[in-house]
Amino acid sequence: MSEKSSLQDTVEQRLRLYLEANQLRQTKERFAILRAAYDIEGTFTIEDLQKKMQEERFPVSTGTLYQTTQILVQANLLIRHPFSSSSTVFERIADNRPRSYQICNNCHRITRIRSKELATSLETYHPRSFAVSYRIVYVYGTCATCQRIMHKRLKTK
Ligand SMILES: [Zn+2]
Repeated sequence: MSEKSSLQDTVEQRLRLYLEANQLRQTKERFAILRAAYDIEGTFTIEDLQKKMQEERFPVSTGTLYQTTQILVQANLLIRHPFSSSSTVFERIADNRPRSYQICNNCHRITRIRSKELATSLETYHPRSFAVSYRIVYVYGTCATCQRIMHKRLKTK
């Protein structure tokens, strides 16, 4: 079994258990949306997910997507990032890898921080009397592109 299909099986099983425990219906749409969300590497919006569902020839309404992504967030299968862009940004979460991001306050561009040191600190952080679900760090600032633009503007003044 490939790594990808075993992850798909694990998350589908998790969703099944969550829906059962919360007496929610196990619809084809919910599982199809989960599969599509887990096919997307990195962050995505509702619009991206809708496009993906259309590509998979499984079109669903925006309402269904909003409702299902909410269920997936509650089931700890997706994270909803607290980014201040106009669309809500999601990402799959089930692999338990620590995540760290840089977010530009100006253009809201999100980039992953690839620091072994930070990843290790996050992995080895075990707070007392607090059960960790996942580990995420956000660093806010100004991206290189925005810094260049601001610098140019200052020069021309
Ligand atoms: Zn920027």
